Amino acid sequence: MGTEENNKPLNFIEEIIEEDIRNKKNDARVHTRFPPEPNGYIHIGHAKSICLNFGMAQKYNGKCNLRFDDTNPVTEDVEYVDSIKEDIHWLGFDWEGREYYASDYFDKLYEWALQLIRMGKAYVDDTTAGEISELRGVPTQPGTESPCRKRTPDENLDLFERMHNGEFPDGSRVLRAKIDMASPNMHMRDPVLYRIKHANHHRTGDKWCIYPMYDWAHGQSDYIEGITHSLCTLEFEVHRPLYDWCLNQIAEGSYRPRQIEFARLNIDYTVMSKRRLLQLVNEGYVTGWDDPRMPTICGLRRRGYTPESIRNFVDIVGLAKRENVIGFGLLEFCAREHLNKIALRRMVVLKPLKIVIDNYPDDREEDMEAENNPEDIAAGTRTIPFSKELYIEQDDFLEEAPKKFYRLTPGSEVRLKNAYIIKCTDVDKDPSTGAIREIHCTFDPETRSGLAGANRKVKATIHWVSARHALDVEVRLYDRLFSKADPDEVESGKDWKSNLNPGSLTVITAKAEPQLVQDNPDNKFQFLRMGYFCFDKDSTPQHLVFNRTVTLKDDWAKISKK
Ligand code: ATP
Ligand code: MG
Repeated sequence: MGTEENNKPLNFIEEIIEEDIRNKKNDARVHTRFPPEPNGYIHIGHAKSICLNFGMAQKYNGKCNLRFDDTNPVTEDVEYVDSIKEDIHWLGFDWEGREYYASDYFDKLYEWALQLIRMGKAYVDDTTAGEISELRGVPTQPGTESPCRKRTPDENLDLFERMHNGEFPDGSRVLRAKIDMASPNMHMRDPVLYRIKHANHHRTGDKWCIYPMYDWAHGQSDYIEGITHSLCTLEFEVHRPLYDWCLNQIAEGSYRPRQIEFARLNIDYTVMSKRRLLQLVNEGYVTGWDDPRMPTICGLRRRGYTPESIRNFVDIVGLAKRENVIGFGLLEFCAREHLNKIALRRMVVLKPLKIVIDNYPDDREEDMEAENNPEDIAAGTRTIPFSKELYIEQDDFLEEAPKKFYRLTPGSEVRLKNAYIIKCTDVDKDPSTGAIREIHCTFDPETRSGLAGANRKVKATIHWVSARHALDVEVRLYDRLFSKADPDEVESGKDWKSNLNPGSLTVITAKAEPQLVQDNPDNKFQFLRMGYFCFDKDSTPQHLVFNRTVTLKDDWAKISKK
């Protein structure tokens, strides 16, 4: 994708692919697939798999299919199918119409299962799931063969057909491959290929009451689609002999898909399993799959992340063959890097403190010109209204300031961004509480841009908003979803949810420059000195709502070191 990729050393998957191309394996074709199970929204981990699968196809002039791995009717839903497609497109990839479903292959998989039975390589087993797993034994000792293993192909054909016809209840029988009950690889000890599930499937309806297992469906689906490189995560490494075994039973000719495993992406301070994310949604810990604190693609999108920043992140993380955990800060770094280039600069005061400029005429208003983005001159300029009463950040004023505090303090000067230099002359406090009500200042009329004093140096420049013109806007500030880097690190008797960070969301009302009400809701913004922001989907012209995507600096890392 990126141009720099051409100079990078090949990763281990690229090495394999290039060797296969050199050897003219599978006619030197490259055909990958992204195979989500439509049982949840996809997350940043899936983005890694998406970038890899579509990326390899792009790099080697190949193709990448989208295949829904919909073999488990109980947890799957079209809502998820639609969201997954939207998210892949948003990330910048396209399957060019090759949208497939494992369920489209149920007939073919059934036929192949019959073929296996006829070859004496599969049998119907009536032992329970518990017994099967017990009899499978332990890796260091051979398992025990099921009494059903001796059934003849005819008996098996009859029973399997009756399973298929719905004669037996859920869990009463399974079809197993007859491989090797003594194999040191537990997955080769007569794995289950089909189970009975009287359940409605989101695509095939009530047509089936037996459903293929992953191991029987995945490789065969790869084969049907002509996949050459079946890229998956490390937990499938131990399944690979079974993947190959299944294919060798049914494949004709020399074409074979090849399974290659890579380490899944893990990120600290979050969870990535769909089952857990679903739990957070269902139990109301977050507002939905697209809650901006979620590591889902739709959550990151709503939070203001760009596809470019996610792709760059995946690229920087690279490919590994061993499990590892990536710091969330790296994802934030990638967001900042891209947003800095594209974000429109705006002034918004998050914690307002009123200032009054005593020597500025009561009814005067000026339009100050300001750059929209110093990184991108083409973004143009805007005007910001200036008047006698302004808001600045509470943090930009200290009554009794230490030496190194260069912002506003009694007697000191600061520059107001795009406007004048002001000097603090007085502090107005509530006599009963001592709380500051407003700050009195004077301005130096010569310091406006274009005038003689425009270049006069002061130590600090701060942002501000004209009180009279300010918009009250809702701003949502986020922190990590979990308080622990590893949410599984829990005290005894508690579960991972006890590590949810109670301070992960703070909602405030801020004072914003009026331009924002006219801004395109799809734009990204930098609120000067406060971070990168975007409109939330809850925003309306009457009530603007913003999410902070990320702060300007990695202040979080500093805090956590304390
Ligand atoms: P989860 O554990 O979140 O439920 P999954 O592996 O069951 O994930 P699938 O829908 O089966 O989810 O995944 C689709 C593809 O994405 C698979 O090839 C899977 O290996 C890959 N994938 C899932 N999670 C990650 C991850 N964290 N990093 C990289 N690839 C992933
Ligand atoms: Mg899976």
